[in-house]
Amino acid sequence: MKIKFLSAGVLRELTWLVTTLWLALFLGWLVGDIWLALIFYFCFYVARQILSMRKFELWLKGDGSVHYPPTSGLWAEVGHLVSRKQRSLEKHADIQLYKSEQFKAAAMALDDAIISVGEKRQVEWFNQSAEQKLKLSHADIGMKLEYHLRISEFIQYLHDENYEQPLILKSLQGIPRTFSVEVSNYYKQHKLIIFKDIHELYNSAQIRKDFIANASHELRTPLTVIRGYVETMIDMEANEGRWQMPLEQMHQQSLRMQSLLNELLSLSALESEALVGKPEKINVSELLASLTLSSEQLSSGQHQFNFDIEESLFVEGFKTPLVSVFTNLISNAVRYSPNGGNIAIRLYLKKGMVNFEVQDWGMGIAQEHLARLTERFYRIDDARSRDTGGTGLGLAIVKHILERHGTSLNVSSQYGVGSVFSCQLTAA
Ligand code: ADP
Repeated sequence: MKIKFLSAGVLRELTWLVTTLWLALFLGWLVGDIWLALIFYFCFYVARQILSMRKFELWLKGDGSVHYPPTSGLWAEVGHLVSRKQRSLEKHADIQLYKSEQFKAAAMALDDAIISVGEKRQVEWFNQSAEQKLKLSHADIGMKLEYHLRISEFIQYLHDENYEQPLILKSLQGIPRTFSVEVSNYYKQHKLIIFKDIHELYNSAQIRKDFIANASHELRTPLTVIRGYVETMIDMEANEGRWQMPLEQMHQQSLRMQSLLNELLSLSALESEALVGKPEKINVSELLASLTLSSEQLSSGQHQFNFDIEESLFVEGFKTPLVSVFTNLISNAVRYSPNGGNIAIRLYLKKGMVNFEVQDWGMGIAQEHLARLTERFYRIDDARSRDTGGTGLGLAIVKHILERHGTSLNVSSQYGVGSVFSCQLTAA
């Protein structure tokens, strides 16, 4: 901004000063004592400035007795600038107030219960839905939220301050419905807590999961019986010849169905409950080394394996599920690589993390499929997956097991070049 030194106010002040000074000098000349006239003039000028300042001060204090412009000259100009600034600030404050009122009105209209709490988790503000669902009242403002919502899981969740996953509450203040609780920090230690009613959604997902688990469980027994009879019939000499082939196929399909049911059951178990027992300290180097033979058996000697395993690497976790992660990824590398292909399996320590990697130079995966690979029954090539004994559930199981170990599956792949499936586990 360019600042003009000789503003209108300064010019007015100077003009007044020069004119009155000439007048004082003229009067001094008339009375014959210019110095006396100058002293009088100086006193008059200072008194006038003090008076103007006082008027200006009273105007700023705004007691209503002094109206703008409170004075003339430079002070009038300053007064004009101050009042212009004040008007613009008032306008800005009005806009801010309007926006905040609009936001509050929108939040009030939401069906989700919203509460804003301060640094010490004291209630600052809540919407209408919170008033109804959580039975909050204005008397609760300023009180700690946990004094009102005495739900131990909720209190623990707030204290832990790990809000990545929402908290699921099966009932709330006597309402027998499922709610998800999401917390976000928005200003210093202030938090916005949102209670969403997810009852219908949660129930239908639960019904679907239970149905799959129950159906898989119920189908297991009849399938075992059918498989048993088929195996007996294959062994019977009377069936040699024209029945041999259909019986072999029935046997193959019953095995496939059994592995599908087993995988569906383990997936349901992984989704609905925590891994059983306590995590233990596992020597993953030994665990992976013990899988070298079974990996070669999986490939029936058709692939070249290169195991590069760093010794004595430990992680905290669950042994059987981790074996399932390793075998699933190795089995996929075998099934999606041509015969004679290379497969590299690595285990190494880097920055306190145990890295597990399976690399193949097989068919690879086009970029558009990568994000969906861990969905249940997502297959790029249905026929190949089935022909190689795949169920379409392997990577979904891997994803869930790794999530239970606090980590995730990384995939990098290029169509026609090959793939690397990897994960990182915290070293113990
Ligand atoms: P499936 O039993 O069909 O192998 P998965 O869940 O293990 O099921 O894998 C899902 C899909 O991801 C597979 O059908 C396949 O298309 C693709 N896939 C998995 N691993 C690889 C790999 N190493 N190379 C190429 N494609 C793969």
